[in-house]
Amino acid sequence: MPRVISQKERKKQADKLVQLAIRKHGELKNRKTRSPLNQLVLSLFCHVTSVRRATRALRELKRHFADWNEVRVSHPVEVASVLSSAMWAQEGAERLVWMLRELYDAHNRTNLDFLGELTPTQARSCLKRLPMVRRDLADEVLLLSLGVPVLPCSAATARMCCRLGLLKDDRPTVKNQRRLAKMFDEACFASLLLFFCDYAEKVCLPDEPLCNRCPIARTCRAGK
Ligand code: SF4
Repeated sequence: MPRVISQKERKKQADKLVQLAIRKHGELKNRKTRSPLNQLVLSLFCHVTSVRRATRALRELKRHFADWNEVRVSHPVEVASVLSSAMWAQEGAERLVWMLRELYDAHNRTNLDFLGELTPTQARSCLKRLPMVRRDLADEVLLLSLGVPVLPCSAATARMCCRLGLLKDDRPTVKNQRRLAKMFDEACFASLLLFFCDYAEKVCLPDEPLCNRCPIARTCRAGK
């Protein structure tokens, strides 16, 4: 477990993260807001591949299928063939079709536009009732689609932040989520989220982190 760092060092580490996130993804101030369902699909893909590939996959789906209902009634193998020939596509397609079927069964529709009429807490609960939608994934939709200032904290984000000395433990708890949110300006939440999707999930791995591919390795005491 990395040592706890001083408040001054934490601030420096947090500033460095923001700098790297903005350098890679921009400030995202004028980004196009996606509908809640489009965002949820993109977020699902971002957890199995890179943000860049996930964005391309969403674009391809929208080009090949008339709407989400057509995806829902399609076989996952057909959906996967539209996404990519890579391994992640099969997993992504299965998750997507399952989620759309459950959404349809629960709400008799294949959109989530009604979330905009709910409070953030209600919207999060509604999203969490869908299969594989954990709190952090629901929070991604709240942040990126509904404009709620919340910083999602996945298990991978908590692990990376703990290794960087920003958190005392690596659990994705609500307490740790709040601690992290206090360290950053709300305006940076979207860029940070994308940064964590790319590096916390795919580089700062639980057993064998790929520190030689990590942009913040120089200031990470847990890194190899
Ligand atoms: S240097 Fe290694 S341990 Fe540290 S944050 Fe990067 S990947 Fe994780």
